[in-house]
Amino acid sequence: MFDFHLHTTVSYDGHNTPEEMALAAKAAGLQEICFTDHLDYNPNYQKEEIAYDVESYNAAHDGVCVPGLTIAHGAEVGLTPWNREEIQRDLSLRHYDFVIGSVHFINDEDPYFPPYWVGKDVDTAESAYFEETLKCLKAHDNFDVLGHLTYIGKVRAHPNRRAVALDKYRDMVEEIMKILIAKGKGMEINTSGIDRIGDFLPGKEYLQLYKQLGGEIVTIGSDAHATDRVGQYTADALALLRDTFGYVCTFRDRTPVFHKL
Ligand SMILES: [Zn+2]
Ligand SMILES: [Zn+2]
Repeated sequence: MFDFHLHTTVSYDGHNTPEEMALAAKAAGLQEICFTDHLDYNPNYQKEEIAYDVESYNAAHDGVCVPGLTIAHGAEVGLTPWNREEIQRDLSLRHYDFVIGSVHFINDEDPYFPPYWVGKDVDTAESAYFEETLKCLKAHDNFDVLGHLTYIGKVRAHPNRRAVALDKYRDMVEEIMKILIAKGKGMEINTSGIDRIGDFLPGKEYLQLYKQLGGEIVTIGSDAHATDRVGQYTADALALLRDTFGYVCTFRDRTPVFHKL
């Protein structure tokens, strides 16, 4: 089993060290993991508050070793329509195996917090997330998979947290997937939605659509920020992939590796 989305104390919101997370992964029966600490960018924050500096990443991660567990090194970069150069610069500072591109901001507002939702109905607020994702995907190439496509459904300030219905936003979602496929990029199944909204991010219907459109690359990540969630629901996500794709992907040196299920 694989968990390719994990945060550590290198991330501003991580709670455990790489070694603690790796030991938890071994204990959870995982064979390979990838650390994906946050590189986020937003003018409303001090960048230092939401992006690690590479020296801390190197110091915390390099040399961590747990026998029987393969460890890959990655990052979760926050995509915005305007930060292509910043990402190029920051990713060039060390070797990475895997880069998740995630959309955490909408027009530089953070939907995790209540002000974003003031004066918007839920459909408009959710729809804006997919529009922003489209803009970001058109602007960026330096990432390997799109993180948590339906993230907007689980953010804390959402007035009615829910699995995002594909039918509501199907046109935009199809366009997003077509861009990913044309650029040779994959999608992740982020399992952190299960406890919060009862579904993967994104769920089964989305994966089926991605496959139908010609998508081939899918990774699995728990998005754990502490040891207790490492590998959580990974087995369930694998079962879903066994039934839909017949394989799961990991990454090494920014190249997908396909594992038959
Ligand atoms: Zn994220
Ligand atoms: Zn994450």
